[in-house]
Amino acid sequence: MQHDVVVIGGGHAGVEAAAAAARRGASVALVTPDPHLIGEMSCNPAIGGLGKGHLVREIDALDGIMGRAADAAGIQFRLLNRRKGPAVRGPRVQCDRALYRGTVQRLLAGCEGVRVVRGRVADVLTAGGRVSGVALEDGAELSARAVVLTTGTFLRGVIHIGDRQIAGGRMGEAPTARLADRIADLGLALGRLKTGTPPRLDGRTIDWAATTPQPGDDTPVMMSFQTARPEARQVPCFITRTSERTHDVIRANLDRSALFGGAIEGVGPRYCPSVEDKVVRFADKDSHQIFLEPEGLEDDTVYPNGISTSLPEDVQASFLATIPGLERAVVRQPGYAIEYDYVDPRGLSSGLEVSGLPGFFLAGQINGTTGYEEAGAQGVLAGANAAAASGHGEAVTFDRAQSYIGVMVDDLTLRGVSEPYRMFTSRAEFRLSLRIDNADQRLTPVGRTLGLVGDARWTAYCSKVEGLDTARRRLEAVVMTSDQAGRAGWAVAQDGGRRNGMELLARSDISFASLAEAAPELGDIDAATAAQLDIEAKYAQYLDRQRLDAEALRRDEAVALGADMAFEAVAGLSAELASKLTAARPATLGAASRIEGMTPAALTLLLLHARRRAGSSDTAAA
Ligand code: FAD
Repeated sequence: MQHDVVVIGGGHAGVEAAAAAARRGASVALVTPDPHLIGEMSCNPAIGGLGKGHLVREIDALDGIMGRAADAAGIQFRLLNRRKGPAVRGPRVQCDRALYRGTVQRLLAGCEGVRVVRGRVADVLTAGGRVSGVALEDGAELSARAVVLTTGTFLRGVIHIGDRQIAGGRMGEAPTARLADRIADLGLALGRLKTGTPPRLDGRTIDWAATTPQPGDDTPVMMSFQTARPEARQVPCFITRTSERTHDVIRANLDRSALFGGAIEGVGPRYCPSVEDKVVRFADKDSHQIFLEPEGLEDDTVYPNGISTSLPEDVQASFLATIPGLERAVVRQPGYAIEYDYVDPRGLSSGLEVSGLPGFFLAGQINGTTGYEEAGAQGVLAGANAAAASGHGEAVTFDRAQSYIGVMVDDLTLRGVSEPYRMFTSRAEFRLSLRIDNADQRLTPVGRTLGLVGDARWTAYCSKVEGLDTARRRLEAVVMTSDQAGRAGWAVAQDGGRRNGMELLARSDISFASLAEAAPELGDIDAATAAQLDIEAKYAQYLDRQRLDAEALRRDEAVALGADMAFEAVAGLSAELASKLTAARPATLGAASRIEGMTPAALTLLLLHARRRAGSSDTAAA
């Protein structure tokens, strides 16, 4: 059967890829072994957090699915880093696992042009030097002009519980082996990574009185620009802690942990360590926090966030018994570590296309990332480009100055990964301008031009921007002398100067509310618009500086190095740098500058080489 695009996998990357390709007008087949598990959260039922919340807002700004599904399934909303600056705040939603999955499936079903095919892909087909479709394990073939591979942790997945090893892509699901062999045949470099998950507990057996409730925010911050308020009933999470006794049990059994017993060769996420990792690495700490997170409103399973483990089941039971509130907790599913193949993302272009195999795209955990949000964001980009490769629109890339998606893809494709990659705000040099509150202003117009943003979102966006423009004009029309500002109680320099509302709001000691009180002519401005303009005004001076840096970045991005540049032939370049450049194949001087170990001297050599090449090709053309 012929489609424009085949997406392999119905996880977070696969869903966004299929939906994005369809929004651009492509006909899409999404192939997955069990359609009822589309949108399944393999690990904790939560979306967002620091850095990750930014990615969700960006997916949403491009009209993706994740933000809306998280809001519909949200049972506890918290804005992390609330007391810090707006650039580093991260919205996080605890979700009802079943509700999330159901909402994703409903939203995907609403995407015109997406057909879900039950099956397991065994082979990627090629013809004439480009991808031409996929073959399923049952022998059926699906033709397509572009294929997006999003198999997450399934490639040669092995689950470890102590010394027990089970072949699996996640608990209860078979791994993907034949496809892994095929990917290696296609010349892609594979590596091994690992991640882990904690035991799941029967909530009815937890002594809740021994734990501390953690309510959600009074004013919940939604993930999607399109959601006004939570739909589901809101519930608290609870907090408990490991104790000295917990650490004693773990220390005494370290040799039985798959992680420490040498059974696992893959590298794990440094920022999401297992409990045995924590006990060893932070030996001076006598306790670690555990968040007891409900898995759903109708499901009394509890996810104890903070104690992922690969210790044997009997040790898991013993250490749980030392944790306040969990002394008698019944384990519904043991914790485990999973080891899987990933593809070195340096073999991909900045549009997530495999170098040397047009039409073949990779997105999600297979590219060495960890997390639903990282996967979903790559899915949008790969899906948009798969649509382009099948004749629906132009190819798409995002740069570092524009989005966290751009930061992530740039990091992956230029630097590769040595451990599972997760997003942090510290990875973005332009983070003051890449905020959650302005993700729509950064990306929705771009998404609309690309055909990714539908009419409903576009109309809502335009009306929001109109409201902001009107309110901004009203602020600019409010003018106060220094004398008036002083009388309002603000420590403004008494220089006789006149300042408008935006200039006054830029000061840290002037809030929107106090300005509105001192200048009643401002009239009524709704809270969301006021909050956005307050951030805009307060960040204006920094943003001007970032704008100059972004322009410098784009100047370097404009110097093309050429896909066929022979880095080893660049005189004066060290062999080590030449080999790093050959692995990453940066398309521009800007991209080359971000490769690990790059020096100003080496960049000058590249620049001269690129100019010389451009000069000689101009001469040849003449
Ligand atoms: P997945 O969600 O894994 O989806 C892969 C999809 O591919 C599935 O639908 C699968 O059925 C399908 N598939 C596989 N093989 C084939 C085939 N041959 N043909 C067709 N379809 C196929 N993230 C964190 O951020 N923090 C954590 O602590 C964390 N812990 C984790 C612990 C475990 C045990 C696991 C398994 C994952 C964990 N994750 C964690 C990762 C998180 O679940 C993933 O990052 C996320 O699900 C990746 O999304 P994805 O779309 O790339 O892949």
